[in-house]
Order: sequence, then structure tokens, then C-alpha cells
Amino acid sequence: MSDQIESVEDFSARAKAWLEAGGLPARKTSADPREARPQGDSEHETDGLALWQRQRELQKMLFAGGFAGLCFPKEYGGQGLSRAHQAAFDDLSVNYEMPLLLNVPSLAICSAMLLDMGTEEQKQKYVRGAISGELILCQFLSEPSGGSDLAGLLTRAQRDGDTYIINGQKTWSTNAFAADFATCLVRTDWDAPKHRGLSMIIVPVHDAATHMNRVQMVNGSMEFCEEFFTDLVVPAENLVGTENDGWTVGQRQLFYERQAVGGGSAYTSGRAPDRGSRTGLTIEEVARKVGKDKDPATRELVGWAHAQDTVNHQLIKRITVGMTSGEYPAMASSMMRLAHAEIPQQKMDMMFDIAGDQAVTSLPEGDGFLKSIGVSYLMRQGASLGGGSSEMSRNMISERVLMMPREYAADRDVPFKDVRRGR
Ligand SMILES: Cc1cc2nc3c(=O)[nH]c(=O)nc-3n(C[C@H](O)[C@H](O)[C@H](O)COP(=O)(O)OP(=O)(O)OC[C@H]3O[C@@H](n4cnc5c(N)ncnc54)[C@H](O)[C@@H]3O)c2cc1C
Repeated sequence: MSDQIESVEDFSARAKAWLEAGGLPARKTSADPREARPQGDSEHETDGLALWQRQRELQKMLFAGGFAGLCFPKEYGGQGLSRAHQAAFDDLSVNYEMPLLLNVPSLAICSAMLLDMGTEEQKQKYVRGAISGELILCQFLSEPSGGSDLAGLLTRAQRDGDTYIINGQKTWSTNAFAADFATCLVRTDWDAPKHRGLSMIIVPVHDAATHMNRVQMVNGSMEFCEEFFTDLVVPAENLVGTENDGWTVGQRQLFYERQAVGGGSAYTSGRAPDRGSRTGLTIEEVARKVGKDKDPATRELVGWAHAQDTVNHQLIKRITVGMTSGEYPAMASSMMRLAHAEIPQQKMDMMFDIAGDQAVTSLPEGDGFLKSIGVSYLMRQGASLGGGSSEMSRNMISERVLMMPREYAADRDVPFKDVRRGR
């Protein structure tokens, strides 16, 4: 076969035939939208290991069919195709079961970062492993001392021959319980200023030296984890990039995180039928369900929500093109990240308003359809924290895109061991 990239039309015909021939199981449809909801998009659904086993199986099916990692290079298990091929596949696969939970962070954040920054061996093991469904990656970045000031992290790694010994604590690690390895940012030099003494190391998630707790969220979900490392020994070959240059590696990872969370990643595959709203419901479905679809004020809200979605899709396209052409700096991904927090939050508020008291009461006939809006409402704020907070996104837009003066930092250029920290 020649190296010429298959046309999107030929690819689509091939993908359609494969899907129709049973390449992937058809997505369950149901009168109750919660059952037809994409996996992992609502409360409690991501908590069970059986679901994660299913995600691995689906990824293996994609891989066996030649449809995994479409935009990843072929040498690491991908297909070397373009965003246009991926977009076509997203449309075609919308009614099939897809391993959507593996998109973020395993593929679109951790694997994408390793593709840029990892050694050949790391790419063969972890990127190929994630694409083929053999392993799942997660992120160990945030610590109890604060996620916004990531460079102020306290988990330490000490070099000991050809190993690192890691001690400390990470928190808010999404779905770490289901993962195999994590990209873990640690401090390796306490004499250097905070950004210059960090290293990124790939660590096993399940190890006798790591104690993991599941953390319950306000909606009851247990997807968050926290990890305590006591003399965790990791081979030195797991270092990504160079020692003490972990900030560069971390920045790359955060770039991919903003892109993924903002909806502009080339490395996610598949999409939810409702384009990923937290409830799994569209705003017009809610309006119809409560009999307000003829109400002029409600119709205005529905129209507004659609306009915002259109603006958001255009924003993602515009920024992606701008970053690819060099017109925008990489930090412009913060704009998508911000929009992806603000717009769904506003839509969530509208759904909650439209659903009214039915969003917080359990109906006698057991219709949880509207109640799921109330539960999701409790989680609305998560969108402005995960992947970096909205305030930090605004800081980045002002300082790194608009080049306004940088925020004062008392610890800049101070050896980290001398930086004053809270108790
Ligand atoms: C859904 C979700 C998934 C997540 N998944 C992961 C994961 O997989 N791995 C991981 O490591 N972490 C994860 N996180 C953690 C996330 O990265 C942090 O919550 C985030 O970086 C904010 O850190 P923090 O919660 O410690 O808040 P803090 O940093 O303590 O901030 C508290 C508040 O102060 C504001 N603030 C702080 N500094 C400034 C400043 N300089 N200027 C203006 N405002 C400021 C913040 O915006 C925020 O509102 C996840 C979080 C969520 C909600």
C-alpha cells in the first residue's frame, strides 16, 4: 500500500462498512435517556471496574479494526490520519458503543504529551499501550497544597542509582483507580526556584508503596482518588524529558489538557450524541419533558443555548487553526478551556431553571430523568476547576496571549527550600 493518506470519503466508507458489520456494538437506546447516555458522563457511572474493563475491550476492538488512535502516528499504534478523518469517524460512530472514558486523560492528555516529550521506549510502551487498549494512563499533578500553584508542589523524588524514590501526596486524580500508570510531577531539586526543580516521572498506579483512597464527590461519584507515596521506587528510565526540566514537560501536558477539556483535541475519538452535556440531556429535551417547549421565555433560552454552542464550535475551530498556523501562541488553548467551562455552566443553570422543582424532587413513578439535572447541577462548578481553574485561564489569557503585565509572585527566583509555605 502506498504512503498516500486515504481520502476522507474512502475512509468514511471503510469505517461505515466496518461499523455496520459489527466492528463495534451498537449503542443501547432507551426511552430513558439516562440509559442511552454515553458511558462515564454522569453520576456514579464511572465508578465500577466492570465499566472500565468494557472500555478496554472496546478500545481493543477499535485497535483490531484499524480505527484506534486515528491521529496518532502509525509507528506508535495509531493510523496517521487527519482531524478530518477523526471528525468523520466521530459522526459515524455516534450510535455505537465507544470507549469515551479513555479519551481524557489517557489518550488526549497523557499519551499526547508522551508523544512529544517521551523517549522512543516510552512511546512504544505507553502510547502504543494506551491506543491498543492494553493500559490506561492518568495524571498525578494536583496536591492538597493547591492545584493552581502547580509549580509549588511538594512531592519529592530522590535519585538513587538507576531509580527514583518518591514520597508525598497527590489528589483529585480522576479515575486513577482504573488506571495502570500515571504521569507524576515531582520535585527533584529543592535548591532551585520552584519552576526549575521539577521532574515528570511515569509511576505505576498500583504499588505496595502507594496507598490510594477513593474520594466521594458531592454527587456521590467516587471517580476522584488521592494517593500517598511512601518510598515508591521507580526506574530512572521512567523520567520524561530531563531531570529538573519537568515544568517544560508539565506545560506540554497542561497544553493538551486545555485542548482536551476545551473540546479541541485531535486525539479524542467518538462523541456523545448530545455533544457531551453533563446531564446527557439536551436543553430542548428538558423543555419538552416539562411541557415548556411552547413557552416563549423558555424558547428564548433554548435558542440562546444553541447560539452559544455554535459560537463555541467556531471558537474551537478558529483557535485550533490559529495555534497550528502560529498566529496564536499555545496558551490560546486557555480561551477554549474558559469557554468550555462558562458555556456548559450557563446551560446547566438554564436546564435547572426550566426543569424547576422537578429537578430536585423524586417523582413517585420513579422518573429520574429530571432529577438527574438537580444532581448534575451540584457538579456544575467542577467545569471551572478541572484542567485548571477559570481564574487561572483568565490569568493566562491576559499574561500570555494579550501580553499584559504578569501577576506579582513573591517566590519567583527564590530557591524553593527558602519559599515560605503554609503549615
Ligand atoms: C473534574 C475535575 C477533575 C480533575 N482531575 C484531576 C486529575 O486527573 N489530576 C490532577 O492532578 N488534578 C485534577 N483535578 C484538580 C484540578 O487540576 C484542580 O482542582 C485545579 O487545578 C485547582 O486547584 P485546587 O482545586 O487546588 O484549587 P486552588 O488552587 O486552591 O484554588 C482555589 C481557588 O483560588 C483561585 N486561585 C488560585 N490562584 C489564583 C490566582 N493566582 N489568581 C486568581 N485566582 C486564583 C482558583 O481559581 C480557585 O477558584 C481535577 C479537578 C476537577 C474539578
